[in-house]
Amino acid sequence: MQDVPLSIADLVRYGTTVHGGSTVVTWTGAEPRRTAYAEVGRRAAQLAHALRELGVTGDQRVATFQWNNQEHLEAYLAVPAMGAVLHTLNIRLHADQIAYIANHAEDHVVIADASLLPLLAPLLPRMKTVRHVVVAGGDPGDLAAEGVRVHRYDDLIAGRPEEFDWPVVDERDAAAMCYTSGTTGDPKGVVYSHRSIWLHSMQVCMSDGMAVGQADYSLAVVPMFHAMSWGMPYAALMSGSSLLLTDRFLQPAALADMIAAERPTMAAAVPTIWQGLLQELDAAPRDVSSLKRVVVGGSACPPSLMKAFEERYGVPVLHAWGMTETSPLGSVAHAPAGAEGEQRWAYRLSQGRLPASVQGRLIGAEGRPMPHDGESVGELEVRGPWITGSYHRDDDPAKFDDGWLRTGDVGTLTPDGFLRLTDRAKDVIKSGGEWISSVELENQVMAHPAVAEAAVVAVPDPKWDERPLVAVVVKEGHSVDAAGLRTFLADRVARWQLPEHWAFVDEVPKTSVGKFDKKTLRHRHADGSLE
Ligand code: ADP
Repeated sequence: MQDVPLSIADLVRYGTTVHGGSTVVTWTGAEPRRTAYAEVGRRAAQLAHALRELGVTGDQRVATFQWNNQEHLEAYLAVPAMGAVLHTLNIRLHADQIAYIANHAEDHVVIADASLLPLLAPLLPRMKTVRHVVVAGGDPGDLAAEGVRVHRYDDLIAGRPEEFDWPVVDERDAAAMCYTSGTTGDPKGVVYSHRSIWLHSMQVCMSDGMAVGQADYSLAVVPMFHAMSWGMPYAALMSGSSLLLTDRFLQPAALADMIAAERPTMAAAVPTIWQGLLQELDAAPRDVSSLKRVVVGGSACPPSLMKAFEERYGVPVLHAWGMTETSPLGSVAHAPAGAEGEQRWAYRLSQGRLPASVQGRLIGAEGRPMPHDGESVGELEVRGPWITGSYHRDDDPAKFDDGWLRTGDVGTLTPDGFLRLTDRAKDVIKSGGEWISSVELENQVMAHPAVAEAAVVAVPDPKWDERPLVAVVVKEGHSVDAAGLRTFLADRVARWQLPEHWAFVDEVPKTSVGKFDKKTLRHRHADGSLE
């Protein structure tokens, strides 16, 4: 066979010509911006010329500090295709972490949205290697830092050639990088290659993956800085799916309006986003019937959420598991042929089936492989062509085991390859020598009709070591107390698991990518405080 390297440049060439008529739509809160992929391709070429002039050569890093929008997509195309490395900065991280990451990655240029300059400005002097900031979607204002030149995106690319002679690169070269959100310790950089992105995109497009296809209009709610928006931008180029991008309009009401107006056919986001949308739709219904499926991942999808979307709104929910380290798509929960009724739900509520390219194994407490019998529990380890084999400039031997990535996720695998996670190893509650799954308890509490959100963490206990504490957000206009919830749980969980600590809160704290922030919750309640 011909030895043709898999490259983002080829993906750009293909997506912006063959699918040149597909569109990227950026929500603005007023009239959406619509641009054909062909035009995005021309602007990406112009951006590449501009970046060359700013001195971007070889595998230098070009960072983005952006919402999901057209200019961010242009950077997704231009930077890897010109042979440099796209580094998506997570705008929601703590300032110290963003500065650490930019310095660790040695970013040369930052492309930033004008609306995010108030966040970027104080950080810029701490970004030691940054020489240029390119401001998209508005004026740079008085943005300045020593040794840094500031440009306006549209001015910088204007008048430049609309084609670029994309270089031929080794398919194993770095194309993009993304840091983990560093819930423990410093964030770690994961570097994606041209090859890994290409192969991963094919998986995103496969019908048993996220099934992104040419007939789709895909709404990427998951940020382009969160594990490459789960592969949606590149999968869209590969398949010809049009893209709907949220920009900064991520509030439930804005999302509901966007879906009703634009009628996307698929969408992807973490559970807390869908939970918020569900409440919004319950309070003020909108037509979301265009959605043929929504992908939920990043945290376990509560069964109540999946059922509510399907039963009340006719929108099928597809549960997926992955990590920044796994590009991120690991498994997707499609029910196999012949599964009906409860059995079908059981498959769909699992974390899904590992595809051919993601090998999985379970390692038990004594470090031995456990059988894939659907019952034996162990830590999931994975390997495959889009699973990272190391972190950028950071040895972390504890995360790798003889060529396998240790996921930190605990659960079971069935003989037919379905993954069922009980918890993250660090979130499990160890009570009197037994383990309580925080996720299982959350799912049960969230099944109560008055509960909007529930997050469970361990609190220290003199007798049992740890006991579960439930932080509950009650739905507006409803009321329920701890006694009511304990009664509700009584025949749903084992008696010894029934939580005695309940904190009624206005909001569960969230991480930078919208997951329950259990670290903050644990801190907040470590002394047994229920405030
Ligand atoms: P962070 O570690 O900062 O949350 P990631 O998005 O890389 O960033 O998180 C990956 C982790 O998210 C996984 O290791 C797993 O614990 C959790 N996760 C992702 N998808 C699911 C899912 N469907 N069910 C349960 N946990 C999930």
